[in-house]
Amino acid sequence: MAVRVSLKIAVLSMHTCPLAPLGGWETGGMNVYVRELGRALAARDATIDIFTRRQAPDVADVVEYAPGARVIHIDAGPHRHVDKYDILDYLPDFACGIQRFRALTGSSYDLIHSHYWLSGRLGLLFKDRWGVPMVSTFHTLAQLKNRVAESAAEREQAVRYEIERRTMAGSERIVALTAVDRQQMIRHYGEHAPIVVIPGGVDLDRFRPLPRRTARAQLGLAAKHKVVLFVGRIQRLKGLEVLLRAFAQLGDLDARLLIVGGRPGTGPESREITRLQHLASRLGVAERTQFLGALAHEELPTYYSAADVSVMPSSYESFGLVAVESLACGTPVVATRVGGLRSIVRDGETGLLVPWRDAELFAERLRRVLTDDALRRHLAGQARESVLGYGWDRIAEEHLALYAEVRGEKLVAVSR
Ligand code: UDP
Repeated sequence: MAVRVSLKIAVLSMHTCPLAPLGGWETGGMNVYVRELGRALAARDATIDIFTRRQAPDVADVVEYAPGARVIHIDAGPHRHVDKYDILDYLPDFACGIQRFRALTGSSYDLIHSHYWLSGRLGLLFKDRWGVPMVSTFHTLAQLKNRVAESAAEREQAVRYEIERRTMAGSERIVALTAVDRQQMIRHYGEHAPIVVIPGGVDLDRFRPLPRRTARAQLGLAAKHKVVLFVGRIQRLKGLEVLLRAFAQLGDLDARLLIVGGRPGTGPESREITRLQHLASRLGVAERTQFLGALAHEELPTYYSAADVSVMPSSYESFGLVAVESLACGTPVVATRVGGLRSIVRDGETGLLVPWRDAELFAERLRRVLTDDALRRHLAGQARESVLGYGWDRIAEEHLALYAEVRGEKLVAVSR
């Protein structure tokens, strides 16, 4: 039985376009989440219009990327990446652009789903004007990021916290990605509106195990090496420095480290990649470490399947789609015991959890997974099954139930 609902939903994703290439400085989990949730909701008869800021000159105004799911690029500010705090200046243009689109196309909506704090600010404006309820997902929160910030440059500004707080107070429902996320939200912000836990998802058809030998052959990787895989944006929060220091302690193992992610071009990202490459050289692991740059989502199942273990050494992770994708491909994960990773990775069952920022312990856990074949088989054997509940179909149904509840409606299940 599937639930189908013909709701029209305005999705606000101002900060980041769900169709943007992944693995850049600010293009990762949230893009995948907004895109795939939209696709799965539209497959259940909802009509999805995702409003985002135009970040490249050559994209069409309206892109229907799946039947019933459209991305609408609104002109607001320069047609390139802009720092998130500078985007605040373009909120009025963005709001006008959405109103103009509505007027020209005669579109109307039953509900707003806003993603991230920047969209929350807009959602507050529109929900009153349009007389519809709003659901908000923050993905990350200023207060939580600030707790682990290593420098003033990484600290989030007070304006973000203030907008987050106001958005929480003005939303009918808030979606937290895990129970831990929910608890931390309440601790640091108070409970302004009911907070519902709905996790991120994974495309279980795309992310499935391939025979390791086949995957390695496709990537030109020798069967004899141990392969450690990192996938993610190249930001300090992701803990790559800890990873390189840990990997350097495994010099006696015939191991290779693959780092997927990073689109050099923007200033801070290029600097961070260069810094990490120098660190790898200083630590003597440059020869065994490959910085592969960003890869398309569809290429990743082969990488996860080729790896002995995936790693997420992050200091903060509101969810951690990479861990779910790796497990879906049958590859265990060694991760820090932070945020969403605590609920995705089952310690000793599908991976190992390590205190954050501890390179010694990270190295010790990695060594265990790489050298203890029985342990690795045990973890791998349960990996995929542990994430079968994260398929986007199911995540979409949980959202539909939430939308119906917010609108005071009953959901009707129909057989296909
Ligand atoms: N990703 C990708 N190509 C890359 C790097 C990352 O497709 O080169 C994807 C990755 O597969 C995952 C997302 O970006 O779906 C990252 O999500 P995650 O929740 O792990 O981290 P976030 O970006 O939200 O911090």
